[in-house]
Amino acid sequence: MGYPRATVPERKTKRGAGRTPLEADVDVLVCGASFGGLAVARELAGSGARVLVLDRYEVGERQTSACAAPTAWLEALGLGESMRQTFDALVIHTPHTSARIRLPWTFSTFDYRELCELLWAQADAEFETATVSGRAAAANGSGRIAVETDRGPLSAPLVVDALGWRRVLGTGYQPPEAPLSRGLEVHPRAAGDELEVWIDRDYVPAGYGWSFPARDEVRIGVGSFDPRFHVREPTVRLAGDLGREAERYQGNWIPHRLRAATERGVFFVGDSAGHCLPLTAEGIRTAFHFGLACGRELRAVVAGESTRERALARYSAFSGAHEWKYRWMLRAQRLVPRVPPRLLAAALRGIERPRLVDWAFGHYLRIAPPPARPISARRVMHAERN
Ligand SMILES: Cc1cc2nc3c(=O)[nH]c(=O)nc-3n(C[C@H](O)[C@H](O)[C@H](O)COP(=O)(O)OP(=O)(O)OC[C@H]3O[C@@H](n4cnc5c(N)ncnc54)[C@H](O)[C@@H]3O)c2cc1C
Repeated sequence: MGYPRATVPERKTKRGAGRTPLEADVDVLVCGASFGGLAVARELAGSGARVLVLDRYEVGERQTSACAAPTAWLEALGLGESMRQTFDALVIHTPHTSARIRLPWTFSTFDYRELCELLWAQADAEFETATVSGRAAAANGSGRIAVETDRGPLSAPLVVDALGWRRVLGTGYQPPEAPLSRGLEVHPRAAGDELEVWIDRDYVPAGYGWSFPARDEVRIGVGSFDPRFHVREPTVRLAGDLGREAERYQGNWIPHRLRAATERGVFFVGDSAGHCLPLTAEGIRTAFHFGLACGRELRAVVAGESTRERALARYSAFSGAHEWKYRWMLRAQRLVPRVPPRLLAAALRGIERPRLVDWAFGHYLRIAPPPARPISARRVMHAERN
């Protein structure tokens, strides 16, 4: 039997006295309740496993990105309701030209809170707000992995770190001396029709600016592949150039190198494993892609068809099989900023040709392809079987 589904509580993140010590006897501890962690929890629905998801904030409380993803991924996971706008073209601006590229598939912007709540509704896990600070010592011979939180230590046989770029349960990175990009955006209340990016050294020497409309707000930002380059001033300038208010800031570090997907018995998913794609900084669908893969392996362990060691090895191999794709994207990330602007303009005019665009964007999507058909939450399938 699956466990009763927890609903997203109305209360905000527990603070002070609300943070009572936690005690839990769970099969799977998922640390991080954003794209990666929620995808793992969703995949475990109906498995019979007792799953506890932890995050320092309530589910969906803090937006972590510009929230644009391939529409097919959102639809496959039943997240269509959270979509705000859909785009079948990408407008790329360089100092010498602007190209409107018709895409062979569409991107959609979505509302972060709504998407997280939809994912959560498809899981049958429990949730607690807690800040995870690292690994703790597990009782000898227990076979469990223990983690330290601000509400006391917790342990489980299966532990997932979906905590983002800090990789709290493994060997972390220290910015700015690490393969991390910087991203910052503002969210003016405004409307727009086009998904736009700027490859322009006036804004950022290596990186790009963007403007992603999402019905009643536009997400305007700048990302720098060089972690030492500060992006606040160019973000404000880009917003100003577009006649928008620089208000409601949101920013973070973005990993641009793939890392080990397992370490000392822990599974890493999403940014904690460097699953965000270099060059484009697209990390939502990859967090889904690897989150579902990790969830599948954990499911097999819970069902007694696999062991933790086998699941770790298989998930690590699955993630590692993508290494060459990440290497190519990183090469492109290093190359694009070095291309002289006039050559870049000529290349863009070339890429406007439909066959080339279909080829390039087709390959790009296949790095983490959307499921061939919608995957209903297993909880529903499980209920139907009974
Ligand atoms: C400005 C910006 C714009 C972006 N735009 C896009 C975009 O449009 N499309 C796209 O595909 N990608 C985008 N990205 C990249 C994308 O946001 C990330 O790759 C993606 O969020 C990774 O998902 P994740 O679940 O691995 O980690 P995160 O989304 O970072 O989630 C980590 C979760 O862990 C929690 N957490 C962190 N530390 C702790 C702790 N110590 N204890 C407890 N909880 C903790 C956080 O609260 C959060 O809920 C953007 C990134 C930035 C910075």
